[in-house]
Amino acid sequence: MAVIHDTIQAFELFQPSSIEDALALKRRYGKTSWTFAGGLDSLDWFKDRIKRPEAVIDLGSIEELKGIRSTDDGIEIGALTTLTEIVNNADIRERFSLLSDAAAKVATPQIRNQGTIGGNLAQDTRCWYYRGGWPCYRAGGNICYADTPTSINREHALFEANRCVAVNVSDTAPALIALDAKIVIRDSSGERVVDAEDFFMVPAIDIRRMTILEPGDLLTAIRIPNTWAGAAFYFEKVRDRQAWDFALVAVAAAMKLSGTTIDDVRLVVNSVGPRPLRLTDVERQLKGQPHSEDVAADAGELALLGARPLQHNAFKIPLMRNLVRRAIRDVEA
Ligand SMILES: Cc1cc2nc3c(=O)[nH]c(=O)nc-3n(C[C@H](O)[C@H](O)[C@H](O)COP(=O)(O)OP(=O)(O)OC[C@H]3O[C@@H](n4cnc5c(N)ncnc54)[C@H](O)[C@@H]3O)c2cc1C
Ligand code: SF4
Repeated sequence: MAVIHDTIQAFELFQPSSIEDALALKRRYGKTSWTFAGGLDSLDWFKDRIKRPEAVIDLGSIEELKGIRSTDDGIEIGALTTLTEIVNNADIRERFSLLSDAAAKVATPQIRNQGTIGGNLAQDTRCWYYRGGWPCYRAGGNICYADTPTSINREHALFEANRCVAVNVSDTAPALIALDAKIVIRDSSGERVVDAEDFFMVPAIDIRRMTILEPGDLLTAIRIPNTWAGAAFYFEKVRDRQAWDFALVAVAAAMKLSGTTIDDVRLVVNSVGPRPLRLTDVERQLKGQPHSEDVAADAGELALLGARPLQHNAFKIPLMRNLVRRAIRDVEA
């Protein structure tokens, strides 16, 4: 009988206790290094022997990357904060419940206990061909196995496909974009802060990455400004099973109302493209409109402009239309 060894390819393990030491290691090992947070995504890759880094930099001992702090203008969440801490944090539940609701929908309690917010944002796509080690475009090859007439592609993209039709599956990402969050990134030359909306990558720019993170970068924190604190929120994720599963479509909305008029709104859909999709045309159309069933239904229709279904994912079109409609109609203060 064949003996299957579930062994991981050997690597050097580093456990720095400061951001500076982690960045020095990233500078030293460059593309051959791997940042390791909760390990949920990372260990899958290593055990399947598809990703084979030389140096693994485990962030687990860096205290300054952990925890949730109030700031003058909102809240700052360290990249190594677990999803469970985010779900349970009273301040986030009070002011930014869109994020705690989204984090609560990630996978299972065990995964939320171990998985970090930084890892959730930086996680790779779940296209099963790519995850299975098939040498597709994203893996450096010259074909997409998911986009042929016989491919199974029911989880794949409606928007922004370009050779690769894989989607972003982070549940916290659309919530953070709706809240106008900022992502704090450090490399050895200093810190830069980008809008969460601009953190994600499309294949037309770089097919090998899901985010703008470069090999020398560390995501250190997420800052949520008070702009949308206490607004009306809506998060909904539809998946095949109500046990742990990735979204087929997810929607996050933040809305400010004056009486029954929509003053301002941010609307983001995920798992329909390579990055979370902010629906700015729909947002523009909604501002100044009455908060009504008809306006919500029109928003659902407008959201679909430009959608291009594949062989097996056309069901995502009515699904997305209905989620957008419900997000506008049922948003709760
Ligand atoms: C069975 C299963 C079900 C899941 N279901 C869902 C789901 O329903 N919804 C959902 O959103 N997610 C889901 N996930 C994904 C899970 O939430 C992520 O795997 C997890 O959040 C990743 O966090 P981590 O801390 O374990 O990251 P790791 O696995 O350690 O890292 C993930 C990636 O992020 C990079 N990274 C991590 N931290 C940093 C940092 N600070 N700076 C730079 N790069 C960094 C790593 O290099 C790696 O590429 C699921 C995962 C599993 C295993
Ligand atoms: S969708 Fe992207 S990740 Fe999946 S097989 Fe095609 S190129 Fe690879």
